[in-house]
Amino acid sequence: MSELAAIQQVITEEKAKLVEMARAIYSNPEVGGQEFFAVDLITKYLEDKGFKVWRGIGGLKTAFMASYGDEGFHVGYCSEYDALPEIGHGCGHNLIGIAGVAAGVALAATLDGKPGRVSIIGTPNEEDEGGKVVLVKTGVFDDVDAAMMFHPGCSTNFHVESLACRDYRFIFHGRGVHASTEPWEGRNALDGVIQTFNGINALRQHLKDDVRIHGIVSEGGLAPNIIPERAAADFIIRARDSEYLTEVVEKVVACARGAATATGTSLEVTESGFPYDAMVSNGVMADLFEESLKESGYDLESPYNEGLGSIDMGNVSRVTPSIHPVVAITEQWVPGHTHEFSRLCDTEEVYNIMLTVGQAMALTGHKILENRDLQKKILKEFASATRQKL
Ligand SMILES: [Zn+2]
Ligand SMILES: [Zn+2]
Repeated sequence: MSELAAIQQVITEEKAKLVEMARAIYSNPEVGGQEFFAVDLITKYLEDKGFKVWRGIGGLKTAFMASYGDEGFHVGYCSEYDALPEIGHGCGHNLIGIAGVAAGVALAATLDGKPGRVSIIGTPNEEDEGGKVVLVKTGVFDDVDAAMMFHPGCSTNFHVESLACRDYRFIFHGRGVHASTEPWEGRNALDGVIQTFNGINALRQHLKDDVRIHGIVSEGGLAPNIIPERAAADFIIRARDSEYLTEVVEKVVACARGAATATGTSLEVTESGFPYDAMVSNGVMADLFEESLKESGYDLESPYNEGLGSIDMGNVSRVTPSIHPVVAITEQWVPGHTHEFSRLCDTEEVYNIMLTVGQAMALTGHKILENRDLQKKILKEFASATRQKL
């Protein structure tokens, strides 16, 4: 039997159980850090399949590592399973989670005593704080030689890039007084926020094209007849290059400081969340996955082109060769993070695509484990790409 047929056979045998798990995760959406149901379901299944499981890795309660095999090149599949508040699985992480599981189980079945290790790494809280950032920092990926996952989307892109990303909160403290009887005694914190937005809008003219700065007023005062004593704005700042992003962040913070000076208020700056690095896709692995996906029978046309976001897989890609291909699950444009996209992630057709992708990721892993030259090429490209970009 060919390796593709062997992998296919495992996926076919496990199909009912895999789809049932993806459906169960869909029907029980859990936000980041609270994915106890999903982790319990997946890890019990993997233990049944002979995987050794470590729960709560990296200090994260809903992270796990499940491994099969010991010695040799170590292939890791990242599983996500967190949902969005209110919307549920509007980012399709139920599909990501189970595609990773399918790939791991199918690859493990083909190891058959040969050297090599396959792991499924449960990476929680992608939507909010970025669980992979913590797992990278705590060394979970240190002994993984190649990491991969897929993300469902409206277009297919094998060599996915992403923007480095930082989150900031600016809190302005002023003096709250009656807005009509003695406004001259007040210091308007909301003006600090408004001037920050104006400063940033003036700054945009001088920034490179790939920079994204988007913010909201998260606190804007209590009532129109009180000069706002406290006001706050939350910003997300992104750029392709992490070093340039640091420069842009300094300029954005300077806008807030200038606004505080101009309005006579004081400013508190906090970085919220973890910094996301830009994704460095491993070209050798991305090509292998593309070839494997075609061999697995995937043929959806996707004319739409998506722009760049930020993903915590970016941080993984700095410590281990990685890919994060986006695979279209529809030929229409359906905006992500919506109820409409969520409905799409619970259909029979899409569960079939999830399994096809799982099969392709297993095949990619198999090709890597079988071929030492490919392993060397992957590691060589990783070394030169991270040297250049870090
Ligand atoms: Zn998302
Ligand atoms: Zn997502």
